[in-house]
Amino acid sequence: SEVALEELEKVCRLGSGSSGKVYKARHVHTGAIYALKIIQEKHDAQVRQQIKREMEILRRALNPHVVRCYGVFDRGGEISFVLEYMDAGSLADVLAAHRRIPEPFLARVAAHCLQGLLYLHKNKIVHRDIKPSNLLINRRREVKIADFGVSKVLDSTLAQCNSYVGTCAYMSPERFNPDAQDGHYDGCSADIWSLGLSLLECAMGRFPCLPPGQKPDWPTLMMAICMGDPPAPPADSSPEFQSFIRACLQKNACLRPSAKHLLTHPFLTKYKEKDCDLSPLLKSLQL
Ligand code: ADP
Ligand code: MG
Repeated sequence: SEVALEELEKVCRLGSGSSGKVYKARHVHTGAIYALKIIQEKHDAQVRQQIKREMEILRRALNPHVVRCYGVFDRGGEISFVLEYMDAGSLADVLAAHRRIPEPFLARVAAHCLQGLLYLHKNKIVHRDIKPSNLLINRRREVKIADFGVSKVLDSTLAQCNSYVGTCAYMSPERFNPDAQDGHYDGCSADIWSLGLSLLECAMGRFPCLPPGQKPDWPTLMMAICMGDPPAPPADSSPEFQSFIRACLQKNACLRPSAKHLLTHPFLTKYKEKDCDLSPLLKSLQL
C-alpha cells in the first residue's frame, strides 16, 4: 500500500512544527486523503540523521494507535512522509477549542495512547515527544500517536539514548539529569510521564508544572520539574483520575507503571463500559 508522491496534490496546510510543514493531500486517482509531512532540506548532518531515524521507525510501526506511514520519499534532500490523515486534528486543537477536556474523553485518549505506547515499547521504541500536539484524533474518535521526529530506537549505548532531544516542557525529571540513571533504565517510563502530564494539562486547562501566567523558559521549567513536587491533579477530579495521574507523574522513573500495567488501571475501566457522547467535543473541529 505504498502511495506515489507524484500522485498527491496538496489541498491545504494542516500544521507546522519544529521539523517541517504538514499538508492535507488528495490522491489524484483514488481521491483518498492523506497527510503529507515535508521536511525542508536546510538541516545539518545530525538533524538529517534524526530524520532518517524517523523514517525507519515509521516504516516499521504498524499499530491501530500509531499514525500509519504509507511512504517516505527523498527528492533532492527534501524528505516527505505520506501519512494517514487524522481528520479531527490534535489533542492540542481539542484543548484550544474547549479550555478543559472532561474525564470520559481523557480516559479514551489514555486507553488509545497506552495501546500505542505498549506496542512501541514492546518494539524497543521510546517516543520521547509525547505531548498534546503529537496525539492525533479522527472522526471515528480514535487517538493515535504521531510525530516520531525525535524518537529513538533503544540501543545498547545509554549515552546516545540520553542525548538531549524532545520538548523539555513534557520531559520527565530523569531526562534532565541522564547521568543519575542506573544502567537498567530503558527510557520507556519517560513516555508515561509525558502522557500523564499531557492528560493533566487537558484536565486543568493549563500547563501543570508552572503557576498560571509563568513564562515557560528553560531554567524555570527545569527547576519546577526536577526540584518541585510532581504537579497534582485537581481536587475536584475523580479519585480514579487522580490515582492514574499520580502513578504516571512519579519522579522516580522506576516506580512509574508500564503501559501494559496502566491499561488495567481503574481510570480506564471506569469509563470503558460507559458509552459517553463525546461528539460535542469534536463538533467544533473542522471535519
Ligand atoms: P512537528 O515535528 O513539526 O511537530 P508533527 O508531525 O507533530 O510535526 O505535525 C505538526 C502538526 O500538523 C500536528 O500537531 C497536527 O496538527 C498536524 N498533523 C501532523 N500529522 C497529521 C496527520 N497525519 N493528520 C492530520 N494532521 C496532522
Ligand atoms: Mg509535533
